[in-house]
Amino acid sequence: MNPFATALEQLEQSAPLSGISPRTLARLRQPQRIIEVNLPIMMDSGEENIFTAYRVQYNNARGPYKGGIRFHPQVDLNEVKALAFWMTIKCAVANIPLGGGKGGVIVDSKKLSTRELERLSRAFARGFKDFIGPETDVPAPDVYTTPQIMTWMADELVAAHGGDKKYQATFTGKPIEAGGSQGRTEATGLGGFYVFEALAEKIKVAKGSSIAIQGFGNVGLYFARFAAAAGYKIVAVSDSSGGIYDSAGLDLTAVEAHKNKTGKLVGLPGADSITNEELLVLPVDVLVPAALENQITADNADAIKAKVIVEMANGPTTMEADRILWQKKTVVVPDVLANAGGVTVSYFEWLQNTAGKSWSQEKVFADLKSTLVPAFEEIYALGKEKNIDLRTAAYVVALRRIEQAMK
Ligand code: NAD
Repeated sequence: MNPFATALEQLEQSAPLSGISPRTLARLRQPQRIIEVNLPIMMDSGEENIFTAYRVQYNNARGPYKGGIRFHPQVDLNEVKALAFWMTIKCAVANIPLGGGKGGVIVDSKKLSTRELERLSRAFARGFKDFIGPETDVPAPDVYTTPQIMTWMADELVAAHGGDKKYQATFTGKPIEAGGSQGRTEATGLGGFYVFEALAEKIKVAKGSSIAIQGFGNVGLYFARFAAAAGYKIVAVSDSSGGIYDSAGLDLTAVEAHKNKTGKLVGLPGADSITNEELLVLPVDVLVPAALENQITADNADAIKAKVIVEMANGPTTMEADRILWQKKTVVVPDVLANAGGVTVSYFEWLQNTAGKSWSQEKVFADLKSTLVPAFEEIYALGKEKNIDLRTAAYVVALRRIEQAMK
């Protein structure tokens, strides 16, 4: 399934409701710029490997292009274009003055040594040095990229510009000691949890309700922690090796300790092993896809039992699945709203870097909440008023803002 085709379908479906002009729509059907660079990397063995890297700069009407860099063997240009488009919509949904972009490298980064990973990260920064910068295009971490990788990239970009420190602000998601923001690590999971809480109040999802989470990386882990701390019951989690399930509720401390020790979730004593496919159709109240695209499709949408889906991953649901879920009255909190916490705190980091300031964690969390909860309220109200799903409502709000900025 081509994620960019899904993205375009979402655009076409919401454009008429938003009232944007045919001219704006035509512009939004493709990115403003695509850059492809082949990065030769010296491996520890002395051999040279060439890795293909992309940066898609989708739209900058509202501000500098903004979006993560993904290291994954299945990265392809259509995926990066889709992710860059969703970033454009997401920044407009959160109403932060940024555009949308995304980067990716086709690499199985788990097979690289730390030194190889560093060389690849530095090569990325050099390869794209003329296209990224604090006022033009501001990348961040995504799947299999980390704060350490952002530091290597920022350091290399500063060096590539003759030591000019202003280029430090080009990358967000850096560690705090390297100019990162308090709260960035938790931001995406926490932001999703704030949105979920606001929805739970409206549609009465009681504390103690069960939650299954697919993907236990940065996003899934923090969503799980905040939801568990608030009294929700995490019954299943998974990673790329499979998942674990306990209908009585998992002890997250034991889960995390097991994952840290063995590198996997499966095999946790007392929990059943399940596949990623099984996790999606468990008898739970809330389903949280927090891994990759195209997980909820026409093949499994009917079998999904959760009444609420919080899309923490980007693009986890296909359009066909969306239609099935709408008919079933499943409430889907769309990715462009649910996972906008990451880019919101990235924006806070960029603000702190450019102003030479650093904010407390309390301020970051409070500002995150006061950005995302009103965004949710507006989208929820529009959804009710027009009897449309929350994704379409989010796109309508975003497209109007983008057109306004283009004008
Ligand atoms: P991560 O690298 O920290 O974690 C990814 C997780 O997904 C890991 O647990 C991995 O094992 C799991 N995974 C990989 N392949 C899988 C598969 N085939 N089936 C099930 N699980 C699989 O990445 P992350 O930052 O947590 O990102 C997860 C999702 O959230 C992605 O869609 C990403 O684009 C999106 N997202 C991330 C951020 C952010 O701030 N990190 C912000 C917005 C959206």
